[in-house]
Amino acid sequence: MQTGNGLKFPTEFYDAYIFDMDGTIYLGDHLLPGAKRLIEELRRREIPVRFLSNNPTKDPHLYVDKLEGMDIPTPLEDIANTVVTMTRWLKDHHADKTVFPIAEQPLIDALHDAGIKISDDPEKIDIVIASYDRTFDYRKLQIAFDAIWFHKRAILVATNPDRYCPFPGGRGEPDCAAIIAAIEACTQTKCQVITGKPEPVMLEVAIEGLDVNPRHCMMVGDRLYTDIEMAKKTGMFSAMPLTGDSTMEEALALPKEHQPDFILDRVDRLIPAAVWEENGWTAEDD
Ligand SMILES: [Mg+2]
Repeated sequence: MQTGNGLKFPTEFYDAYIFDMDGTIYLGDHLLPGAKRLIEELRRREIPVRFLSNNPTKDPHLYVDKLEGMDIPTPLEDIANTVVTMTRWLKDHHADKTVFPIAEQPLIDALHDAGIKISDDPEKIDIVIASYDRTFDYRKLQIAFDAIWFHKRAILVATNPDRYCPFPGGRGEPDCAAIIAAIEACTQTKCQVITGKPEPVMLEVAIEGLDVNPRHCMMVGDRLYTDIEMAKKTGMFSAMPLTGDSTMEEALALPKEHQPDFILDRVDRLIPAAVWEENGWTAEDD
């Protein structure tokens, strides 16, 4: 359904819904309007719902607690962040390699638990992992530099390509892109793999175990260059709520093939208007 102001809402249900969380379901510590009744309506219809985050600074259990605290109880297996996807990617492709994670504790713990070898000795490091790390410092940069540039043995990979993590009130915090850029700048190498959105590896983990075709699934997220781009790369439908990072102007400035299929003023517009009517919903009552 097309509205006069550039918004466009779906008129049917899809086989599964993959949600970004920050800026889509909640912003900071506050649930966004309509998010709770949206998830409840999808689950009532037994449509699979999965949650994704590019943020590698949180243990996946924290998302279980956070969603539970917002009255959207969700099992751990329905949530994947880049702690989960990086660990799984390393296990699948580089189980015998030694890594140097530029990372906060949750990723380091997950790598330990998965039996991945970790070292800060540049002569032993095969893979430098850049991530959103608020303890990043010159020592870590030097180790990465030595492993990649001086010893010429390590490759650079990263959890996520985000420039900053959005906070309420329009503020934010520098994210993984800044760490990748620092290492690329001094080593003159390129990051080879990213295990977060928009890379399809993220989606593979998200829909693992679901008997669905990505072409009949809906990716929902507030960022054009991660959430929506992943949908485009994997052939999923995409919807962008205007409650987080990207704006209508930014969406419409992109070539048609990179624009979201749907642009929503609130996330529960994913539920077709006919069902809003059946349920007696209005935009004021949630
Ligand atoms: Mg987001």
